[in-house]
Amino acid sequence: MSFVKGLKCRECGREYSIDPIYVCEFCFGPLEVAYNYEEIGKVLTRKKILSRPLNLWRYKELLPLDKEPEEGQNTGFTPLIKAGNLAKILGIDELYIKDDTVTHPSLSFKDRVVAVALAKAKEFGFDTVSCASTGNLAHSVSAQGARAGLKRFIFIPASLEPSKIIASLVYEPNLIAVDGNYDEVNRLCSEVANKYRWAFVNINIRPFYAEGSKTQGYEIIEQLGWRAPDNIVVPCASGSLLTKIWKSFKEMNDIGLIDNVKTRVFAAQATGCSPIVAAIQQGIDVIKPVKPDTIAKSLAIGNPADGFYATQVIQQTKGFGEHVSDSEIIEAIKLLAKTEGVFAETAGGVTLASTIKLIKKGYIKKESRTVICITGNGLKTQEALGGHTVSPHHIKPNMKSFEEVLKKIKSKDR
Ligand SMILES: *Cc1c(COP(=O)(O)O)cnc(C)c1O
Ligand SMILES: [Zn+2]
Repeated sequence: MSFVKGLKCRECGREYSIDPIYVCEFCFGPLEVAYNYEEIGKVLTRKKILSRPLNLWRYKELLPLDKEPEEGQNTGFTPLIKAGNLAKILGIDELYIKDDTVTHPSLSFKDRVVAVALAKAKEFGFDTVSCASTGNLAHSVSAQGARAGLKRFIFIPASLEPSKIIASLVYEPNLIAVDGNYDEVNRLCSEVANKYRWAFVNINIRPFYAEGSKTQGYEIIEQLGWRAPDNIVVPCASGSLLTKIWKSFKEMNDIGLIDNVKTRVFAAQATGCSPIVAAIQQGIDVIKPVKPDTIAKSLAIGNPADGFYATQVIQQTKGFGEHVSDSEIIEAIKLLAKTEGVFAETAGGVTLASTIKLIKKGYIKKESRTVICITGNGLKTQEALGGHTVSPHHIKPNMKSFEEVLKKIKSKDR
């Protein structure tokens, strides 16, 4: 079934066979999966996709697996919500939320990449999976790895949100909490990966793992009626999701399922960790690493592995980038909830708040069609909202007490 040609260096183009490797031996460039698009175009039709179950294997010809795996049956095909209430407030005609806060087993888009990574790890014959995580990856590998019957070593910064730590621990992985930030955790994991024969989903099998992000893009195209949006706003940590969404749009065009793609791709980051947006705003493609300091911990990668490629995509598509403060993130989480009924984690607040700025500055035009990627569920980062929500109305268990409160509420007209 596989249409994979092999791995290819993104820098020098040198080709490699399919193995758990991720850097080019000659130039140290990152490796990427290469496909035979001509053959895929002959077999993959809209009709065939529409006939398949609503999960990420709908687009299996465009994923790097040899056969359809048991993993991931409950992952993917999240809703695309037409956000009329929010669009009105933002002053634009057409806005959609790609809602990756629901449907997935661990309630974030990371389940897409993990489903592909674990399936590939099994094909390679690994019995242990591992990762360096900013939170959601830990949750997803813990959960999906449990079901897949794999041993799990999960490395996180010890300072992660308590709710994300519990969300991982319930599946009983070996959770290693490191006194350091994500970039330090990642460096340690590279050393561990050299010594132990484990599948590190975002290190030695990263080329395969990263391909899972493309499924978000395919779904958006299918759900928009087989066309790409005019604008897409993507939250960035390593920058991988942004580059893969762009790759997915181009692939759909390459295999003849959609017309030419004219989408402008926009990056969203938190001010306390915005190395990609900083490069974009300065008009350069050199990423200057930063020390993260933001409530958007899932995006807190100071030295983003795909930062350079993300800036290339943004420049090529005439997009831009915005960064937002912690208080703007909280306000945007609340706005999304009260207008569209979607409860996003801090990364979702980053995306919406950045979108608001992009509209104000004229980068996103009123009459264009915009998709924003809301990538994780708000139940995972409730701490961030502490003291920032409205309060409950406390009453005694009788009618009198209730009606007193009701009067107060009505006088405020809420
Ligand atoms: C990991 C993550 C992202 C972005 O990831 P990339 O490393 O840029 O691919 C976005 N949103 C959430 C909620 C995440 O957990
Ligand atoms: Zn190379």
